[in-house]
Formats: sequence, structure tokens, C-alpha cells
Amino acid sequence: MSAPTDTIAAIATPPGRGGVGMVRVSGPAVPAIGAALIGALPPPRMARVANFTDAAGEPIDRGLCLYFPAPHSFTGEHVLELHGHGGPVVMDLLLARVIELGARQANPGEFSQRAYLNDKLDLAQAEAVADLIDAASAAAARAALRSLDGAFSQQVHALVERLTLLRVQIEAGLDFPDEELDLFADGRLAAEASALADDLSALLRRAGEGRLLREGLTVVLAGAPNVGKSSLLNALAEREAAIVTAIPGTTRDVLREHLGIDGLPLHLVDTAGLRDSDDPVEREGIRRARAEIERADHLLFVTEAGDPQTPPAELLGEARAVTRVINKIDLAGEPPRSEPQAAWTDVYLSARSGAGLDLLRERIKTAVGFHTGEGLFSARRRHVQALRHATDCVSRGAELLTRGVGAELAAEELRLAQQALGEITGAVTSDDLLGRIFSTFCIGK
Ligand code: GDP
Repeated sequence: MSAPTDTIAAIATPPGRGGVGMVRVSGPAVPAIGAALIGALPPPRMARVANFTDAAGEPIDRGLCLYFPAPHSFTGEHVLELHGHGGPVVMDLLLARVIELGARQANPGEFSQRAYLNDKLDLAQAEAVADLIDAASAAAARAALRSLDGAFSQQVHALVERLTLLRVQIEAGLDFPDEELDLFADGRLAAEASALADDLSALLRRAGEGRLLREGLTVVLAGAPNVGKSSLLNALAEREAAIVTAIPGTTRDVLREHLGIDGLPLHLVDTAGLRDSDDPVEREGIRRARAEIERADHLLFVTEAGDPQTPPAELLGEARAVTRVINKIDLAGEPPRSEPQAAWTDVYLSARSGAGLDLLRERIKTAVGFHTGEGLFSARRRHVQALRHATDCVSRGAELLTRGVGAELAAEELRLAQQALGEITGAVTSDDLLGRIFSTFCIGK
């Protein structure tokens, strides 16, 4: 994508009425637009009160204007901010006037996109802008701000640098095999590749947490009718979200509840009990339950103390963690506890009394590797995928170097890893990817 030459404008404040509304203009035509609209531009970065005038010289509104000359602005271009009164009519008139003077309406995310194209932000930081605006919890907002400040990007850059250095040495060893100094002989390069793989997988874990903080975790409740799934959903949500009755088959549709544990957003899905049924409505519910289970990050298989059932083999996928919730311990007179098994973990609790619920919350956090208070940064699914790819490539490269075979193949693995990391910060990207990322932003950002 080449640097744009036109000038864009948008109402940057949310639609509706408010004390203040802001139109932001960015691009080379800003000085000319400013001159026509407010007479002379204010001194750089200094607020000034001015009349915003229409073509006839009549004021549309009176407000503050701020001018940020290139390159010292958010986008890296000339930027003009017009802070007027936040009414939809005033804002629309002001935007229309700016467009009349030569700007065009900005596309979603176009200001951030220009900031990226002008090297003001890398791609992960630009995405953090959108994540900060969309943050669903205070923890998610803090994490997004850390990414925006470059916490995530800096770590990626540091790894890319080490990777580059390693590649240079391997390529040198390949190009000059007769040199006295045999780079591969002392195992130094293999050791550095292994260390890199470890550091990459540590970053991958933290990025995974950052993604969870942003997107949340889908937890599906499954099990036979009447074991207490709806009661458990209500207990975790701390409100009566689902209908609880003693009649089997009450939950026929899929019920969703959004809650958080220590800042980790949980999308809890209660499903129809899994059993064979002749009732077409219940059968549809069961079909939907199975579809939800397919998509879940974590599965809670609920069963009753006294006669605990084994989770069906079909529910034990590799991709997601399974917890067997042994409910109604109050009836069986058992203590709450958590016991790891080979393919799942048992948590004994009572949805009715609340005993053991904390153990379940802990178990869910541990199972997804969520530890709070580590200075998390926000990350997206695509970052996690890229990091995983890079980690796999470097691990394979390290293994080849350790075995002392296939240095060429190792070099290729490291090249692929570097490319994957480049996709995170936007050092390597396609226009298509950029288009997809920025189009999900809001207008004026
Ligand atoms: P679901 O069909 O699996 O969603 O089960 P429900 O949540 O509707 O519960 C079925 C019945 O079991 C209801 O009468 C609940 O009050 C009861 N129940 C649920 N959890 C507990 C528990 O921990 N202890 C006791 N004693 N009863 C429970």
C-alpha cells in the first residue's frame, strides 16, 4: 500500500447528542481547508476558539480548533481537529463543509491505517487502538493500552532481531563451509535456536492470555437432564438467568450468559440435556447443544454426586479442556474438592449451596492458562496463530541444528518464522490483510 495523497475527514465522536463533538481532518489539504473554514490555522498544537464558516461566510458553529502539522500527528499527516457542539445537525454540517472544501469521508479505521502507513504505529499497535475502544472490561482496556504503548510489539521486535542474527550466522556457515571456524561444530547456534523457541513459546502463552482477555472464553455446560446445569449457570452468573425446575428437559434452547472471572470474560452456554428424545423441539435443542460443544473452548460435563457419570468419549476432544462437575454434593454429604484425572479434572461442588464454586472458577482459569496480574497485553487470534507458527518453525529448526543435519532446512524454518512474526507487526503483510483488519474499526478512528 502506497502513502495516500488525498485528505480524509470524519466525525470522530459517537453519533448522537453530546456536550462536544469533533470532526477530524487528515491529509495534505488541511492547511487550505483550515484557511477557508476558520481564516488562519492556529499555531501548531495550540487550541484556539474560532468560527467554523460555511461557503457564504456564515458561522456553522463556534468552537476550538487544533492543528497538528505533519509529521507530528496521530496519522503522521497534517491533522486538524474541530471541536464543536455535539449535536448531529451541527456535526453533519461541519463535515459536509470540510468535504466541500476538498476532503472526503474517511472509511472505517482509515486514520489508524494512515498512522500505520506513515510508521506512527505498527500493525499490532493499530489493532490495540481498536481493542481499547472495544474493551469489554477494565482489565481488557489496560491490556490494550499496554499493546498500544508497544509492550507486545517490542517483544516481537526483540525476537525478530535475535532470529535475524541467528539466520545471518547460519547462512554464513552455509556459504563459507571451508572457513576455519565451523559455526555448527560447537552447538552454539543450536543452543540459541532452542532458547529462541522457548522464548517464543513463552510469548505465545502470554499472547494467548491477551487474546482471552479480549475475546473471552466459551464454556459449554453439557450433561444429562436434571443434573443441575441451569442451576450451575445461575450460580456462576450470580443471578437467575436460566429456568430451574425438577422436570427433565426444561432447557430446550441454548442459553447464553456473559460473566467474568478476574477479568477473564466467560461466555457461558447452557445446552439442552443430551439424551435421546422423541420430542422434535427437544431434539432440535440437543442438535444445537452438540454444535455448541463443537465450538467450545472449555466443556463442563455436569453429573451428580452419588452416581457420577463418565463424560462420553465423543466429548473429550483434544482441542478443549474438559471438567467433570460432580454436582449436588450437599445431597451426598461430600466435601468440595478438585481432582485431576487423565482426560479431565473432577470438581465436586454444589450449585445450590455454592460450595466448591471457587474451585471451579480456579480450574477454568488454570485450564486455559490464564494468570492475572502479569502485565498482560492485548492480542488477537491472528497474532496467536502467527506466534504458534513461528514457534513451531523455530523448534523444528533447533532440532535440525541440534542433530547436526540439514542446516539448509533449519535456515528455511527460521526464515518462515521471521515471516510469521513480521505479520504481527505488519513488517510483512498483504494489502488484503490490511484491508480486512482496518475495515473492522469504527469510522473516525
Ligand atoms: P438441568 O436440567 O441440568 O439444567 O438441571 P436444573 O438446574 O434445572 O436442576 C434440576 C434440579 O436439581 C432442580 O430441582 C434443582 O433445584 C436441583 N439442583 C441443582 N443443583 C443442585 C444442588 O447442588 N443441590 C441440590 N440439592 N439440588 C440441586
